[in-house]
Amino acid sequence: MSLVALGKKRDAAVDFLPTSRREMDARGWDQLDILLVNGDAYVDHPAFGAALIGRFLEARGYRVGIVSQPRWDTTDDLTVMGQPRLFVGITAGNLDSMLNKLTAQKKVRSDDQYSPGGQTGKRPNRASVVYANLCRQAFKGVPIVLGGIEASLRRIAHYDYWSDSIRRSVLLDSKADLLIFGMGERPVWEVADRLAAGATLEDLRDIRGTGHVRRKGEWEHLEPSRFIRDGKPIHLPSYKVVKTDMAAFSQASGAFQKETNPGNGRPILQQHGHEAIYLNPPAEPLDTELMDELYDLPFQRAPHPSYRDPIPAFETVKHSIVTMRGCFGGCSFCSITEHEGRVIQSRSAESVLREVRQLRRMDDFRGVISDVGGPTANMYQMKCKSERIEKACRRLSCVHPGVCENLVTDHQPLVKLLRKVRGEKGVRKVFIASGVRYDLAERSPEFTKELAEHHTGGQLSVAPEHVDDDVLDKMKKPGAESYERFAEMFACASEEAGRDQHLVPYYISGHPGSTMDSMIQLARYLKKRGLRPRQVQDFIPTPMSMATSMYVTGLDPFTQEPVYTARSLREKRKQKALLQYWDPSQHDLAREALKEAGRYDLIGSGDKHLIPPARGKGSLSIHEKRRRTRSKQSRRGRTGRRGAGVPKSGGKPAGRKKR
Ligand code: SF4
Repeated sequence: MSLVALGKKRDAAVDFLPTSRREMDARGWDQLDILLVNGDAYVDHPAFGAALIGRFLEARGYRVGIVSQPRWDTTDDLTVMGQPRLFVGITAGNLDSMLNKLTAQKKVRSDDQYSPGGQTGKRPNRASVVYANLCRQAFKGVPIVLGGIEASLRRIAHYDYWSDSIRRSVLLDSKADLLIFGMGERPVWEVADRLAAGATLEDLRDIRGTGHVRRKGEWEHLEPSRFIRDGKPIHLPSYKVVKTDMAAFSQASGAFQKETNPGNGRPILQQHGHEAIYLNPPAEPLDTELMDELYDLPFQRAPHPSYRDPIPAFETVKHSIVTMRGCFGGCSFCSITEHEGRVIQSRSAESVLREVRQLRRMDDFRGVISDVGGPTANMYQMKCKSERIEKACRRLSCVHPGVCENLVTDHQPLVKLLRKVRGEKGVRKVFIASGVRYDLAERSPEFTKELAEHHTGGQLSVAPEHVDDDVLDKMKKPGAESYERFAEMFACASEEAGRDQHLVPYYISGHPGSTMDSMIQLARYLKKRGLRPRQVQDFIPTPMSMATSMYVTGLDPFTQEPVYTARSLREKRKQKALLQYWDPSQHDLAREALKEAGRYDLIGSGDKHLIPPARGKGSLSIHEKRRRTRSKQSRRGRTGRRGAGVPKSGGKPAGRKKR
């Protein structure tokens, strides 16, 4: 059990992974085995990737140190603990560095949730590439291994929204020796063990969940796969082709997605000039035993003591508990399935309860657990009815179109877990803040009842995202009627519990498939129900998602049918403004959108209208007309007194007299 759990003061020198030579000395270490370079602040908590991998490797006997947010104009910060014996592992942080920095409108964000005090500018753009180049200068001959979400989602040629270009695989730009994609525990463990046993880089080329570059002469002889289990790689269209041919880019995206099931995914090869990137099949998911072991590691559940300012992302999660990872939803705009995998990996109830007891002993814990969940609130312990079927399955989603008949949607394990967590001594309230998958929840009145009775703080966030069937189909989300059924169930359960609470729905504007007409349909739906969503996400094309492929190519990656997409920033803003029909600051844009769509019938001041008329001539209220007249008269009076070009006694202006 960690010292925090025992209520003792933390000592940076021994309780955290070392970040300095002094902390290494305190452990009696003369050299690190593995150095992790991290784009986020070092928070010793399982929600932070570098800490999770660092603790995991430490538990396997490796000496691991962390350098967080190093300066990138010098190698001095990287070398404070000397050269590592086995390898340097690099992560840009919990988010892609460009997504962390810029908004959907490509504006610089005002804060960075993963830096002390929310300060911006603590990591470079495309941090994986910059750190890898720095590490190569700093540690000659030491293998460089990329990991984390940025590397994972940029592992093949991909679209980069912020530069509006198709970029090469990050493996080539960074010149890293190896790339770990997906959740990294199994691959990084294998890499460490093989290197420790004296393996060369060539010997690491067959590890699942990793990719590498093949030089000229090393890949041309590889025959493309003809059937699923022939062990040969599928050949994606080359970088040169996908850079200019959008149909090829779209086909590459679809083909890539079909190889993401660890049960039957094939290796992937993509030529980049004279070289090619080679990706092995995805790593096997973690079993419950390994998940428990991971979350039982001695995390201090705190930022490293060297930080004076709080880390906002930690403040959000410090009293929350992750029960599972992975998602079988396969939503087009989301990368969780690509990164965490579609197979749900759950912790045991005992492991979760052990973490509750750790929380209970934190100084600032007042008995309120802010979230019990994961990528989705209600997929705990859900899986395909048969491992054999799951391993053979080529579907991208277990819930779209429609919930698969092979999916076991039993909510009992989750209901039992929640009851146990609530029953723990010192726990007053347990919230569910992770998104509830309502097409699953509507199948379990018992879970919905528990949710309404015990786990909602007056408002429950859900993400229907849209109401138009075509758009929902492109998103791979359930139809609006599923949301309506769940909303009804939740309302009844809340009433029965004697609680006045409601759903807070989230919507996305500007998603591929979303036209101005479909956004108007959504806006009218919201107005009719008196909904004023404060959470409207302007779609961001993040690397490698299905929706991003549609955004850049205008094609469905599986059918190759055309998909309408709002490409200009202004059109995206207009789509978003329609959903904020109630906000006066958005009215000009929303009105412009309605006029473009020929929907003048929705501009007006009545109930049937969406947006009030412009405040131009002929459309001003009587009060506004009076105010403007008064103001005009008063201005005339003032200018007359000052004599600015107007003679006091009337007649022609003085200046003209001279001429
Ligand atoms: S068969 Fe159905 S439940 Fe099983 S993995 Fe495939 S989609 Fe999911």
